[in-house]
Amino acid sequence: MDCLFCKIINGEIPSSKVYEDELCYAFNDINPQSEKHILVVPKEHICCLNKVDEHNSHLVAHIFEVIPKIAKENGFESYRVINNCGEAAGQTVMHLHFHVLSGSNLGEKLV
Ligand code: AMP
Ligand code: ZN
Repeated sequence: MDCLFCKIINGEIPSSKVYEDELCYAFNDINPQSEKHILVVPKEHICCLNKVDEHNSHLVAHIFEVIPKIAKENGFESYRVINNCGEAAGQTVMHLHFHVLSGSNLGEKLV
């Protein structure tokens, strides 16, 4: 499958790994939108939030258990979690991912 994040997960494309376990992988965003910008993705290919259902929602729950651990390990006191679902919402990589943004420049834009 021609998916950028699947290739990152299987090591075909290099990434700056932050965390990994049997279900998910986290790495630094190549184009950070804040001082710290980490992406957390399920290892299973799920194209977007619209494809989360009763069969795979445990992967999302797992990611939301992992995010506070990543935040703690990286010294994030405050952070923002974002998912873009669909092109019009800004999704450019069609493999479910959660942006974890931290730093002093987050501001109060959008939400
Ligand atoms: P989205 O726009 O929500 O689909 O987010 C995709 C994110 O992937 C963007 O923030 C990109 O900067 C990031 N990205 C694209 N290619 C890479 C890469 N090779 N390594 C790390 N992050 C990437
Ligand atoms: Zn994928």
